[in-house]
Amino acid sequence: MTPAAYTEHDRQIWEEELEEFVPPRVFDAHIHLFNPQHMGEGTGRTWSHADLETLQSWAQRLYPGRETHFLVLGSPAPGIDVQAHNDWAIQQVSQDPQTRMNRLVTPGCNIEDIRRDVLTHGFVGLKPYRLFSVTGDVAQCRIHEFLPHEQMELANELGLWVTMHLSRHHGCADEHNLDDLADFTTRRYPNIKWILAHCARSFTYWPIRKAIDRLRDMPNIWYDLSAVTDVRPFITLFSKENTKRLFYGSDGIDSTYFHGQYVALGRAWQALDTSRFELQFPHCEGRPILAIYEQLLSMKQAAEIAELSADDIEDIIWRNATEALEIGDPMSTRSNTT
Ligand SMILES: [Zn+2]
Repeated sequence: MTPAAYTEHDRQIWEEELEEFVPPRVFDAHIHLFNPQHMGEGTGRTWSHADLETLQSWAQRLYPGRETHFLVLGSPAPGIDVQAHNDWAIQQVSQDPQTRMNRLVTPGCNIEDIRRDVLTHGFVGLKPYRLFSVTGDVAQCRIHEFLPHEQMELANELGLWVTMHLSRHHGCADEHNLDDLADFTTRRYPNIKWILAHCARSFTYWPIRKAIDRLRDMPNIWYDLSAVTDVRPFITLFSKENTKRLFYGSDGIDSTYFHGQYVALGRAWQALDTSRFELQFPHCEGRPILAIYEQLLSMKQAAEIAELSADDIEDIIWRNATEALEIGDPMSTRSNTT
C-alpha cells in the first residue's frame, strides 16, 4: 500500500481519537526498509519498496505534524542478499542523524563482517529472525538456533541491541524461551540489550499474562509494541511492567499499513487484511481502518485503564527509546550530543 490508500475512515480515527493521544514527536522502534533489488531470482513474494523517504511520507500521513524518527530493522526476507540489503539500508539511515538501525543477521553471517559493519557503519544492534533457523523449524526454534552463540558473544562484547521476535508456539510464555532469556540476561550475555518485539510476541491476552512475572524481573529487557492490535496485552504491560521499558513501534510498512488488524481468537491469532475478503458492513457506516491505527487505539484505551499519564505516553512513544538509544535531542537540555 501507499499513503494514497489512506481513507476518510482512517482520517476520522486520527482526528477524533489519536490526534490528542500521539505526542509531538514519535520514535518508531520497529520499522523496515526494503529494496526488492536485493532479492535473488525465484525468491517469490517480496515486500514493498521502502526507502527512508517512503517511511517519512507514510509518517506524515499517519501522524500529521509530528516529527518522526526510527529504529530501522533489517528486513528478514528469505533469499535476500544480506550484505547488499544492510549496506543500502544503513546508507539510507545515515541521512537522518536521529535514526538508527539493527543489522539483519542470519546464522550464515560472518562474525568479522558483523563487527566491521557495527564499528564502521554505526549499526547499533542486530535483527535475527526465526525464518533463518538452522533447524529448519521456523515455528518451534530456540533463540540460539537463529542467533548463534558466537553472534550473541559479539553482541555482548559490543553492548548491542537485539530485536528479538520470539519463536515457539507459546512465544514469551514458552519455558525454553523464558529459561534462555533468564540465562542470557543474568549470566551469559549481561551486556546485550533485548527488545522483545510485538509485546514479547503476545498477539493475544495469553503469553504476556503468563510470562510477565518472570520477564519483569529480568534486566536489560525492553519491548516494542508493534503490530499488536488486541487491547489486552497492552493492559498487562501497562499495568505490570515498568513503562520505561516500553517502546512504540509500527512494524511498517507491509505488516501494519493495511486495512485490518491482528485478530486474537482465543489463544490463536491471525493477520486479517480486509482487502482480501468480500466483507459486507450492513449495520454500520464505519469501515476498516489501518492496523497501525487499531494498535494506537488499543494503546490509548489500555493507557486509560492502567491510568497512565500523558507523560507516560510520551515516554512510550518518544522518550524511552531516544534516551535508551542515546539519540541526541537538539530540542532538549538533556541532549546527549556535545
Ligand atoms: Zn518487523
